[in-house]
Amino acid sequence: MLFTKYVITAAVAAVFAVPAFAAETLSAKDLQTASALRDAAQTGNLSYRILESLTTEIGPRMAGSKNDARAVAWAEAKFRELGFDKVWKEPVTFPVWTRGVESAEIVAPFPQPLLVTALGFSVGTPAEGITGDIVRFATLKDLIEAPDDAVRGKIAFIDHKMQKASDYGSVQAGRSQGASEAARKGAVALVIRSVGTDSHRFPHTGMMRYKEGIPKIPAAAISNPDADLVVRMLERGKPVSLKLRLGAENEGTYTSYNVIGEITGTEKKDEYVLIGGHLDSWDLGTGAIDDGAGVAITMAAGEFIKRQGLRPKRSIRVVLYANEEQGLIGGKAYHDAHVKDLHKIQAAAEADSGQGPVVRFSSYVQPAALPVVKQMFDVLAPLGVQAGDNDAHPGPDMGILKSAGTASFGLGLNNEDYFDLHHTPDDTFDKIVPARINQTAAAYAAFAWMAAQSPVSFGSGTDALKALKTVSK
Ligand SMILES: [Zn+2]
Repeated sequence: MLFTKYVITAAVAAVFAVPAFAAETLSAKDLQTASALRDAAQTGNLSYRILESLTTEIGPRMAGSKNDARAVAWAEAKFRELGFDKVWKEPVTFPVWTRGVESAEIVAPFPQPLLVTALGFSVGTPAEGITGDIVRFATLKDLIEAPDDAVRGKIAFIDHKMQKASDYGSVQAGRSQGASEAARKGAVALVIRSVGTDSHRFPHTGMMRYKEGIPKIPAAAISNPDADLVVRMLERGKPVSLKLRLGAENEGTYTSYNVIGEITGTEKKDEYVLIGGHLDSWDLGTGAIDDGAGVAITMAAGEFIKRQGLRPKRSIRVVLYANEEQGLIGGKAYHDAHVKDLHKIQAAAEADSGQGPVVRFSSYVQPAALPVVKQMFDVLAPLGVQAGDNDAHPGPDMGILKSAGTASFGLGLNNEDYFDLHHTPDDTFDKIVPARINQTAAAYAAFAWMAAQSPVSFGSGTDALKALKTVSK
C-alpha cells in the first residue's frame, strides 16, 4: 500500500488533548512563512535547473570514477553560486570497481545476442568468456532450496519479476545475494532478470555482495524482454547455452567527499536540520532520478529559504553524499564523523526515490513534538500530501542516523515509475517533469524551514525518542 493513514495512538491523542496554550507549537508567523515558501518554490523551477546542470555538465558519476571528482567540484561551486553561507567537504574512502566490456549471447539452441550489464562489484570473466547451460529459478529462495547438483558447472538464472515498486526489497535480494548462493552449489556464473518494472531492453545494474569463504563468480543482469526470451527458449525443453563476457575489475581504493552546504541559523546555529541526497550515481545513465533529483531538490530547498531573505533559527544543512550506490558508504562516513554531535541534528530527511511529488509525510519524533509535526503536516497537505505514521525512515544514507537515535522525517515520494528507470541507461534528464520536482522542492523548503523554527526539539539523543523506538519496532 502506498499511503498509510496517520496513526493516532493513545499517547498521541493524549498530547493533542492538552490545551493549546500548554503545547509549544510553531508561531503563526512561522507557519505563514512556511506556506509562502511552499507556494513560491513550486513556481521557481530551480530544482529543475540544478538537475539540468548536473546531468548536462557532469552526467554519470559512479563512485571512484573520473566524474566522481568532477561532480564534487560541481557541487561545491553550485552551493557557492546558490549563496549557501558555508560550503565544505568531508572525505569518504572506499574500494573502486570498474565495469569494463560486457557482452552476452545465447550460443545454442537459437544463437542471438542479449543485452547485459555486470552487477556492481562482480568479478569479471576470463577474456574468452564463460559458457554454460542456463538453469532457471523463479526466486532466490528457489535457488537456495534447490539440490546442490542442480547448477554445478552451469549458469544460474534468477527469473524473479518485479511487478511494482514495493517489490524492490524482496526482488533485489536475488541481485545482492544470488551469486554466492549459486556459487555455493558450484555454479560458474549468475544471471538475473533485471530488478525493474519496465519492459524496455535495458538491463538494470545495482550492487551485489559476495559472502566470505565462497568462490566469487561473475554476476550480471539482463533486461525484462531478454529474460522473457530466455524463458521462451527454456520452455522448448532443450538446454539453453549462454556465453557471458564481463571485463569488471576491482582496483584499489579511492577517496571522494560528502559535499555539504549550510544556511547558518541565528538562535541555535549549532543545531541543524539535515536534508540531502547522494551525489554518486551508476554509470549507465546520467543519474537524473537516482539521485540527481534528490541533490537538486534539497539544494533548491536551501536556496529558496536563503533567497527569500529568511534566517532560520537553527541551521539547515544540505549533505550530498558520496558513494551511496556501492554500500551507503558516504552515509556511514557522515555518521562516523559526527557521531559525538548527533543530538544536534534536529531532523534528518533524505530525498532518494526520484523526482516526486511528495505523497506522504511521516515523522520519527518524541511525543512532545507531535503537535508541531501536525502543524507541519497541515502546511504540506495542500500539496496533496497524506499523513504517515511516527516511524519514518529518513532515507538510505540517513538510516544509520535513525538507528543511532536521530529524529527523522520521511517525505515519501511517488515512485510508481521510479523502477522503470532505476540503474539503467534510461535514467536521464528528459524524464524529469517540472511540476513534479518543483512540488518536491517546495515541500522540502517548507519542511526544512518549519523544522528549523520548531520551539521544541524533535528528540535526537533523548530517552523519549529511544522509548518510542522500542514501541514502534
Ligand atoms: Zn539512490
